Amino acid sequence: MRLSSKNLDTRLDTVYDAIVVGGGMGGLSAAIYLARYGLKCLVIEKGKGRSMWMQDLRNYVGLDPDTPGRDIINHGTKQAVDWGADHLRGYVEDVTDEGDTFAVKVKVGKKDSIYPVFRSKYLIAASGVIDVLPELDDMQNVYDYAGYTLHVCMICDGFDMWDQKAVLIVGKESQINAAFVLNWFTPYITVLTHGLCTVSDEMKQKLAEHGYPLYESAIARFVGEDHKMQGVELVDGTFIEATTGLINMGSIYHNHYLKGIEGLEWDGENLVTNEMAQTSHDRIFALGDLKKGLNQVSVAVADGTLAATQIWRNIRRQSPPRKWES
Ligand code: FAD
Ligand code: FAD
Ligand code: FAD
Repeated sequence: MRLSSKNLDTRLDTVYDAIVVGGGMGGLSAAIYLARYGLKCLVIEKGKGRSMWMQDLRNYVGLDPDTPGRDIINHGTKQAVDWGADHLRGYVEDVTDEGDTFAVKVKVGKKDSIYPVFRSKYLIAASGVIDVLPELDDMQNVYDYAGYTLHVCMICDGFDMWDQKAVLIVGKESQINAAFVLNWFTPYITVLTHGLCTVSDEMKQKLAEHGYPLYESAIARFVGEDHKMQGVELVDGTFIEATTGLINMGSIYHNHYLKGIEGLEWDGENLVTNEMAQTSHDRIFALGDLKKGLNQVSVAVADGTLAATQIWRNIRRQSPPRKWES
């Protein structure tokens, strides 16, 4: 059922088998499997997540390479709800481990918010990450290109940059190293720091040896039409011709609600999981971009399958057998 502030009261006494934080690629996959195992689950999705901005999913077997992430989210949400999952638009603020259950505090409504608490036996952390984008006074100018011809994922879109003039936008010197991987796809790389970091002589020399220009001035605006980049203008007036680009400025991890939970093993901001997507806490699973591993839709979807199946196994093994009694 789709929940909202109007009907969520009906679920406040429910102990869900699993609450899924994040209804993106991994979370919806988990919800579809959980629902089909006959388990009670609730997906909580804030909106405006990473896969929403994926304008085309290029590399998922059998899907048209122009398939937008938002279509998958819309269809996947309907699928999960049709099989019996609950779905709520809201923002998970905090999770408390109560021993046998988790208490999940949710902010519902950006204005006149209410803060219901839902309970579950298992928690699936499927809240992903979001890419850091260059900040301009006019963010719409960034959004007009980011996710179209200005990419954030080389594995996803390197192919679409083949032999084009490309800008690599970074915020830290170490992020420049992506140039030496991106050159698999195109050698026509210009590096832009947007004035955010200093670059050592050693790195400058390495870039010069490869023939990759470096500009350290801030970006004024992206230039182009109809989401197709033609170049970048810097505040010092320089114009750089480029039909594509890669933003490699790191990510914001949607993991704050887990920071108070004991016993979770982290690798930086990523959760470490086993082969069934289970974290070091036996009742918390983590999927997709939030866990250590490759940030791809195919991986997140498979993680959702594994997590839901392990939760089913755990619950099934603790349940009495169903006998055919007349
Ligand atoms: P997501 O799909 O991002 O789902 C996480 C969800 O959690 C989000 O919807 C978010 O709104 C929600 N959330 C976060 N915090 C909270 C909270 N506190 N409360 C409630 N909800 C919350 N991958 C490919 O395989 N192929 C591609 O071609 C490709 N192209 C891409 C292009 C772009 C422009 C971008 C941005 C990404 C692309 N990706 C691609 C990567 C792909 O989107 C991710 O790897 C994938 O979505 C990860 O799935 P996930 O379930 O881990 O995260
Ligand atoms: P969030 O981080 O989602 O939320 C901020 C706060 O709002 C939360 O802490 C919470 O208190 C509250 N909140 C959020 N959701 C809810 C809810 N459902 N209920 C109650 N409270 C809530 N963004 C755009 O707006 N337009 C674009 O065109 C665009 N293009 C993008 C392209 C790419 C390639 C990428 C990677 C990102 C893009 N973004 C775009 C995303 C942008 O960078 C931000 O991540 C996004 O806009 C943040 O949304 P938000 O302000 O709601 O913040
Ligand atoms: P396959 O997709 O089987 O691919 C292996 C290929 O290798 C085959 O096409 C075979 O012809 C070929 N091959 C084998 N030997 C050789 C050789 N020596 N030389 C050349 N080619 C060879 N899974 C789900 O997730 N959801 C479902 O709802 C679902 N329903 C199913 C219903 C049915 C009736 C069946 C039979 C399976 C179903 N499955 C379902 C399982 C799913 O089909 C498999 O898990 C999946 O196809 C495995 O992928 P694969 O690449 O390992 O194998």
